[in-house]
Amino acid sequence: MKFGGSSLASADLIKNAASIVKKHASEHEIVVVCSASGDTTDDLLSLVETARRGRSEEVEKKLSQLEQHHLNLLEAIADDRVREETGETLKQWLRELRRATLGILYLREVTPRSTDYVLSFGERFSTLVMAGALTSMGLKAQYLDGGEAGIVTDSNFGEATPLTEVTRLNVKRRVGRMLDEGVTPVITGFIATNEEGVTTTLGRGGSDYTATILASSLPADEVWLWTDVDGLMTANPRLVQDSMVLRMISYNEAIEMALFGAKGLHPRALEPAMLSKIPVKIKNTFNPAAEGTLITDTSEKSDKPVKAVLLVNNTAMLTVKGPSMVGEPGTAARILDTLYKAGVNVMMISQSISESSISLIIRRSHLNKAVTAIEKALLGTRIVASVEPEDDVVVVAVVGEGMKGTPGVASRVFGAVASKGINIRMIAQGSSELNISFVVKESDGVEAVRTIHSEYGLGRNGEGRR
Ligand code: ASP
Ligand code: MG
Repeated sequence: MKFGGSSLASADLIKNAASIVKKHASEHEIVVVCSASGDTTDDLLSLVETARRGRSEEVEKKLSQLEQHHLNLLEAIADDRVREETGETLKQWLRELRRATLGILYLREVTPRSTDYVLSFGERFSTLVMAGALTSMGLKAQYLDGGEAGIVTDSNFGEATPLTEVTRLNVKRRVGRMLDEGVTPVITGFIATNEEGVTTTLGRGGSDYTATILASSLPADEVWLWTDVDGLMTANPRLVQDSMVLRMISYNEAIEMALFGAKGLHPRALEPAMLSKIPVKIKNTFNPAAEGTLITDTSEKSDKPVKAVLLVNNTAMLTVKGPSMVGEPGTAARILDTLYKAGVNVMMISQSISESSISLIIRRSHLNKAVTAIEKALLGTRIVASVEPEDDVVVVAVVGEGMKGTPGVASRVFGAVASKGINIRMIAQGSSELNISFVVKESDGVEAVRTIHSEYGLGRNGEGRR
C-alpha cells in the first residue's frame, strides 16, 4: 500500500491512513510506502532554490516551517514511548537537513546530487511519522528508507533508474524477512541509493514507482495506490461534468493516461507491475469504500473502443518548413537533435508524406528556447526556411485499447469534433493504436473533449451508448 502526499498532509490524515493499514493487516501481509507529507517536496525544492540564491532570512523561515510541521505531526500521532524514541531520530534528521541547506546557502551552489539529498528528507520525515503512528496503534512496524529496503539505482540524480536484479535480490531478502517475522515494513517512497550508498530519487511522483518495484521484487499479490481521487476517470471531472471512474483498465491504457498527466500515477510506475503481472488498484483514502480503478492485463468491455479523453494543456506547436526538406535524409534528425541539445522535450511529431514541413508539440515554457535554438542552428541553412511558433494550442488525447483494429474510430472522433466547427491542426496516432492525439486551438480544447466524451457515451448520461 502506497500513500500519496495528499493522504498524509495532516496528523488526522496520517491517522486515517494508518487505520486503513491496520484494518487490512489482520488479513494480509502489508508493505507500506509513503510519499512526503502534503507539498513537502515542493517546499524542499523551493528551500534549495532560496538557499542557492543566498536568501538567508527566507531559508530560516522555510526551515522552521518544515521543522514545525513535522514535529507537530509526530506530536499528534504518537503515544509517549514512540514520541520519545522517534522524536530523537526526527530531530537528528531535522538537524541534518539544516546543515545541508546551510551548505548550499554558503556556497550558493547546488548539484542534482545535493538536491536529491535534501529532497529525501520529505519522505524520511513522513515515513518515520507513519511508522510511529502504526506502532502507536499496536502494529509491529519498522521504518526503512528505500536504500535500506534494497532499492539500488544508477547515479542519474533526480531521475534515477533502478537496477532491477540487485534490487530484486536485496528486497526479497530484507523486506521479505521482515514480513516473515510478522513485521510491517514502512518504507520511504521516491528515494533510493546508488551502488555507493549515495541518496538518489526516482523522479517526481516516484513513490508509486517505489511501490511497484517493491511489489515485483517480493513479489506481492497486489499493489494499492492510495490517493485523493476515486480512481482514473473517463475525463477530467473539472472539465466534463458527467465523467466517471474507470472500474477496470489495462496496464497499457493506464500508462497512456499517466503519460498524459491523469492524476495519481507516475508513468514508469506501471512497468514493474505489468512485467510481473501484478494487479494495481487506485484507491481513495478520503473514500475508502469506493471500488477504485483496477489495472490489470485485461481491459473492461472490449466493445468500448474509447475509454478516456484527456486534455494536455500548456503545450505549443512549432512548424518547421523548408523546400529542401523533401527527400533529404537526416532532416528530422537534425531538427530533433537541435531541440535535444537545447533541452527541449518533444511530445508529439507529425510530418506528412510530402515532407515539406514537420510539426512538433512541445511544452509551452520551452517555446522560446526551441525557436531560438532552431533559428540559430538551422535557419537559412538548406534545410529550414521558416519556423512558425504557436503558443495557443492544446492536445486532445483519446485513449483506449479497443481502438486497435476497430475501423472508424478516427472518423467518428474527428467527425464529432468537426460537427462543432472545431478545426484540427495536427494529428498523430502511433501504430499501437492505443491513442489518437490531435491538436486544436486552446479555446476549443474543452469543447473537443466534451464532444468526444459524449459521442462515445463515456459519462453517466451516456451509459449504454456506444
Ligand atoms: N514526494 C515526491 C514528489 O512529490 C514523490 C511522490 O510524491 O511520489 O514528487
Ligand atoms: Mg507528492
